[in-house]
Amino acid sequence: MIHPAGYPSLVYADAQGNITDFPDLHAAGMSAGNFQRPSRTDFIPLPEGSELFVLPGRLPVGCDRNSGEALLLEDDPFTPGQTIQAVAAFMSPAHTAVLNSAYQTTENAPRLPLFAYTAVGWYGDCFWATAFRSDKDIRQDASQFNQEAINSRTAKKLKAKKNNRLVQHLGKCCLTYGCPAARNYFLGRWEAPLPTSPVCNARCVGCISLQASGKCSATQDRIRFVPTPAEISDVAVPHLQQAKQAIVSFGQGCEGEPLLQADTLEKAIIAIRKKTDRGTINLNSNASLPKAIKRLAAAGLDSLRVSLNSTQERYYSPYYRPQGFSFSDVLESIRVMKGAGKFVSLNYFILPGVTDSTEEFDALCTLLTTLKPDRIQLRNLNMDPEWYLHSISFESSVVSMGMKKWLKQIKHDFPDLQLGYYNPETR
Ligand code: SF4
Repeated sequence: MIHPAGYPSLVYADAQGNITDFPDLHAAGMSAGNFQRPSRTDFIPLPEGSELFVLPGRLPVGCDRNSGEALLLEDDPFTPGQTIQAVAAFMSPAHTAVLNSAYQTTENAPRLPLFAYTAVGWYGDCFWATAFRSDKDIRQDASQFNQEAINSRTAKKLKAKKNNRLVQHLGKCCLTYGCPAARNYFLGRWEAPLPTSPVCNARCVGCISLQASGKCSATQDRIRFVPTPAEISDVAVPHLQQAKQAIVSFGQGCEGEPLLQADTLEKAIIAIRKKTDRGTINLNSNASLPKAIKRLAAAGLDSLRVSLNSTQERYYSPYYRPQGFSFSDVLESIRVMKGAGKFVSLNYFILPGVTDSTEEFDALCTLLTTLKPDRIQLRNLNMDPEWYLHSISFESSVVSMGMKKWLKQIKHDFPDLQLGYYNPETR
């Protein structure tokens, strides 16, 4: 892995949003609200496909070059008195944060939208972010997408399947939202999405498809209809029969909870498996309904991905705000899927300072030891960190190991556990 030869400097944005480096201060990071000086080896070149965000109402914090002490930059050092803003990196897929962007929030600052905010600095002639590549798979790498090919292949399939509402919905996901999974569907490769549910039985604080509070906008609209088993099979079968490393996945960012459509999913899976036994049928889910999981596993579901912000109920429940189910149902779903001899991943929302806190690490180890999921997907939590910490009443006094040490310890303690970012092929 490439690391900077020297120490990256703090970057900030001026009032117009132009991003500048300030060599007098080193770049700093944040871990659950605590400022930290990253080590040089925490930094990697900002990967292609990442974005830089200017954070409104937030002042940048850097580190003293000698002492490492955290220092606030209150105004533009090159134009005194001019307001400035902090900067963060929104990492491209397959990269997991080690530290969040360091800033001090000013009064009446707006809530940050539903993205992840990784620490970033400048050294030599490029930006460096505190992160690591968590999956070698290139399925969502920016370099893999050619917009011209996407446009022509999508237009062709939309015309050919004009009566399939699910294909038309995925056309919007692909062309409007730029969803990588929808793009791969239209390009006929890797993992394709099968959204099915307009409704959900949770009220996640950071839900990306529905934000009832209005204080923060959802990043995509929810699907408004339940596709028929025939529409689903019409998308899935040709993809599973032809695509390389073929996976189809229920449970996407543009829907609620697919388990609430278990009857439709069961019929669709049976219909799919009648036509092809190639590829993997996966379900991304909040895993709230173990009985439905049992039915789907029997119908032919190959793998389950369980979304979790925490393995501690006291932090899980205030985030998911479950309606009619509990954390123990989620654990039971893992037990049922493993009991059926199937593959289980944890879609684990990573927030430095929370994920690597000693309590969270211990609780995760207990879950891994007792339920034996096969894989952890290291997904950055896409949410304003301060809003998140407040909404789960996180105890900031806890000690954190540091994400790099956390990763090393997990690998050491669970050598057979897969660590990655994406759903793998499981058959
Ligand atoms: S489980 Fe998914 S769809 Fe449901 S509220 Fe949470 S994030 Fe939203």
